[in-house]
Amino acid sequence: MSMDRSDELGRELKRLRQGDHLCHFYETATAVEAMVVPFFQDGLARNERCLFIADDANAHQTTQMLARAGVDAKREIERGALRILTTREAYLPAGRFEPLAMLEKLERETDDALAAGFSGLRGSGDMAWVLGPHAGTDQLIMYEAVLNDVASRRQFLGVCRYDLRLFPPSLLQDVLRVHPSVVIGSLVCPSAYYEPPRMALGEAGDDERLRWTIGQLHRTRAAKLELERALEVRDQALRARDEFLSVAAHELRTPLTTLSLQLQRMAREIERRSFDGLEHMAKEAIKASRHLNALVENMLDVTHVAAGRTEFVLHQEPVDLVGVTRDVAERFRGASAIEITAAEPVVGHWDRVRIEEVVTNLLSNACKYGRGQPIDVVIERRAGSASLTVRDRGIGIDEQDLARIFEPFERAVSNDSYGGLGVGLFITRKIVEAHGGTLSVESERDKGSTFTINLPVEASV
Ligand code: ADP
Repeated sequence: MSMDRSDELGRELKRLRQGDHLCHFYETATAVEAMVVPFFQDGLARNERCLFIADDANAHQTTQMLARAGVDAKREIERGALRILTTREAYLPAGRFEPLAMLEKLERETDDALAAGFSGLRGSGDMAWVLGPHAGTDQLIMYEAVLNDVASRRQFLGVCRYDLRLFPPSLLQDVLRVHPSVVIGSLVCPSAYYEPPRMALGEAGDDERLRWTIGQLHRTRAAKLELERALEVRDQALRARDEFLSVAAHELRTPLTTLSLQLQRMAREIERRSFDGLEHMAKEAIKASRHLNALVENMLDVTHVAAGRTEFVLHQEPVDLVGVTRDVAERFRGASAIEITAAEPVVGHWDRVRIEEVVTNLLSNACKYGRGQPIDVVIERRAGSASLTVRDRGIGIDEQDLARIFEPFERAVSNDSYGGLGVGLFITRKIVEAHGGTLSVESERDKGSTFTINLPVEASV
């Protein structure tokens, strides 16, 4: 068995829990080692007492096998974490197989392990002894079936090893019916043929059997479906991430180009000792760097907030919404005419930088999607709250898109006509909600949009 495949089996075995009962179908000694070693390594790591049972078990060979994997088996034996028994000692103490006595013994062994401070018992035994003269295969299936009950009630986990070269196929078919999972090669496979103890022992009627079989089919498919869905969700997330990266890079390039262009022009002017238009160029450069900064802020926010890692931490202080809006609007001068209607300062207890971000996002959208038409901004103070309304006369939004534009990366326009990350409104809403406020929209295609925020004026925390 190659390294990779035994690693795979190791990972599979790590998922096993107390209460599990499996069979291992193998054909070589190497396959046994590849299962037993990680199985016990894991048990020791979980502080379970490990019981290894083999026909020719001798402490020396087993210790060597575990030592090859870096386990100090001698020490584990000394402290009682590892026990090595022959099949005769384990299964045929009275010289013959007594299933019920054996099951009771397992329960006792589990109790002993717990009493000795271990978290449970895990065992793996080779079953070839069943084929010997004193055993009787007729009792095997009953034993294995009832073992499921014992395992599910107790802190016990067991793997029964079956050598495919020795057992008659018909018996192995029955073995499949009494183990919920089977180790085959490097995989732990849920057995589609598994039957609960009552059924395996022939105590269930036809109706119960049929229902169980149908249930098994359903469970098998449902498990596969769940996996397929998880993969689909992961693929979708990867696609969304790639798309975000490409859109983000594209978005950052625009202000970056403006910025470097203006700086080059400024450098040329300074070289020539001519200062014509320097002030204008510097202002353009500042505008571009502000734009860059806003984009970067948005990107950082969205990765944090969308991942649910952080909510906004607010630094609240008295802030005048009218003053902030006028300052922000000033920056958009030249893009669209912005008319601000506000009777008086409207002061609340907010996070100044975040509120600036909100107003910037709303005004920048109004300019971007506003077809160059005038924009009306109204700020009002109502009982206990302040409202800010931004109305444009631009492209508007279809009714069916109104809800989703507040979700991260959701856009109601094509990338070709309008650039954008699709995160501004998501962040805007999150900021407003962190303040205990609301953000809403009314819009009609081709008629324009009105975004309204309401903010409580008192401190929200
Ligand atoms: P972006 O503008 O970067 O796409 P936003 O989150 O700010 O991201 O907006 C999400 C979407 O909402 C936009 O892509 C656009 O379809 C729509 N939208 C936002 N504001 C307006 C507006 N004022 N008029 C029309 N559509 C808008």
